Amino acid sequence: MADVISYIGLGSNLEGPVQQLSNALEALRQLPQTTFVSCSSFYSSKALTLNDDSVAPDYLNAVAVIETGLDAVTLLDELQAIEFSQGRRRDGERWASRPLDLDILLYGNESIATERLTVPHPEICQRDFVLQPLAEVAPELVITGQGSISSCLDACPKMILEKSPCPKR
Ligand code: ATP
Ligand code: MG
Ligand code: MG
Repeated sequence: MADVISYIGLGSNLEGPVQQLSNALEALRQLPQTTFVSCSSFYSSKALTLNDDSVAPDYLNAVAVIETGLDAVTLLDELQAIEFSQGRRRDGERWASRPLDLDILLYGNESIATERLTVPHPEICQRDFVLQPLAEVAPELVITGQGSISSCLDACPKMILEKSPCPKR
């Protein structure tokens, strides 16, 4: 199979987010049959107040670009193994605080809708913390089923995001 360009969303809000994302980028460079292409800056977003009035730790997000010969499910397996090796444990609660989240945002132009995998990631255009780093690494990107990244950015509610250089570019 020809190699495919895939965009990976990285996120962390526990256990040293800068180190978590840096380690994850290092791990992406080690993936089999895969070339690491680039990474966005790191984008930090302020904590949200939770239902119980406690405050979640700030989130750090970035987007990496890889070129891979892995099929999409094998790529997901590899990403989940990296999450696990960096302390991620799934307790069934979605959007819980986590040391590391690695999502497949796009896998070439493919649309995938299986129990394990939805690609393009269904929330891309609702998440400013994904769109901004994605636009940084791929300003001309067209998101399958959604349109240009600039039109998605225009339509997405803005968040306050603090940008810092990627230490692992
Ligand atoms: P969200 O998907 O809204 O960002 P999340 O990343 O916190 O939430 P996870 O707990 O990391 O959700 O993943 C739950 C499940 O989502 C995974 O076990 C995986 O099978 C599935 N999944 C579906 N589509 C994708 C995708 N594009 N990338 C990563 N995981 C996906
Ligand atoms: Mg996610
Ligand atoms: Mg995830």
